Amino acid sequence: MTALVLDGKAVAAQSEAELTQRVAKIKEKSGGKTPILATILVGDDPASATYVKMKGNACRRVGMDSLAVEMPSSTTTEQLLQKIAELNNDSNVHGILLQHPVPEQIDERACFDAIALHKDVDGVTCLGFGRMAMGESAYGCATPQGIMRLLQHYNVQIEGKHIVVVGRSPILGKPMAMMMLQANATVTICHSKTKNLAELIKQADIVVGAVGKPEFIKGDWIKDGAVVVDAGYHPGGVGDIELSAIKERAAAYTPVPGGVGPMTINTLIFQSVESGEKSIG
Ligand code: NAP
Repeated sequence: MTALVLDGKAVAAQSEAELTQRVAKIKEKSGGKTPILATILVGDDPASATYVKMKGNACRRVGMDSLAVEMPSSTTTEQLLQKIAELNNDSNVHGILLQHPVPEQIDERACFDAIALHKDVDGVTCLGFGRMAMGESAYGCATPQGIMRLLQHYNVQIEGKHIVVVGRSPILGKPMAMMMLQANATVTICHSKTKNLAELIKQADIVVGAVGKPEFIKGDWIKDGAVVVDAGYHPGGVGDIELSAIKERAAAYTPVPGGVGPMTINTLIFQSVESGEKSIG
């Protein structure tokens, strides 16, 4: 069996073509207004700077604007909260992205939670998470929401399946597990204190690797015919799962790169366009 490649790059490109038309419609209806995503980068971490740049570029590709806010690494929680309040009150801004991680003196959770719910297009607030988990409307956290959109695109069945999510971070593992539960999966959440990880993963119909360690999840822990989703990305182009070992045995898998990453950015843009449509279109 050769596994189906869940091609996030292609699905994101197709989505961008649709979003370009939706943005053009907003402009047409509103006399030239476009959705605006404000991106906040605090400090000088080069990886974060690259991610923010990629997000700004994706906005431009669909005809949206982005507002790049850059703050020094000495920024305090109060200064960042002040900036977020300004952006919340700016009616020209439709979405706010605070790039994670922020410098350690900042209370990141307080800053995420200061983002107004209707501008939380990256899905990082506790309120948005709680609403999503309760089945109420909210923008999904971008990476897990992007994974859900990718699986839906390829008609991967989730209902009734056993999903094992490895990782429980607030921006990935936890919301992923809740989204899968909402989609009627049976969900096991694993983390650094989990015992018998390999045995649990062997039971999975769908495995989501969100560990942050290169090829930590071994190919022989994964059963034949499973769907394999790898959220990791590390130097050398490997993810959190030993993908080379499952390409002939899995039903489907997300490549690294070109799987989850493009869907994360696309979901942020998708949700920004939705927010723009609600307020100007
Ligand atoms: P994180 O905050 O570091 O969380 C890692 C999770 O893995 C934690 O819940 C941790 O458990 C768990 N873990 C660590 N060691 C483990 C072990 N030995 N056994 C089982 N679980 C273990 O990372 P993250 O932000 O969720 O990111 C996870 C991965 O996704 C990274 O590779 C990151 O680069 C990638 N990522 C990709 C995108 C994208 O757009 N493609 C976006 C975000 C993240 P504890 O909670 O017990 O510590």
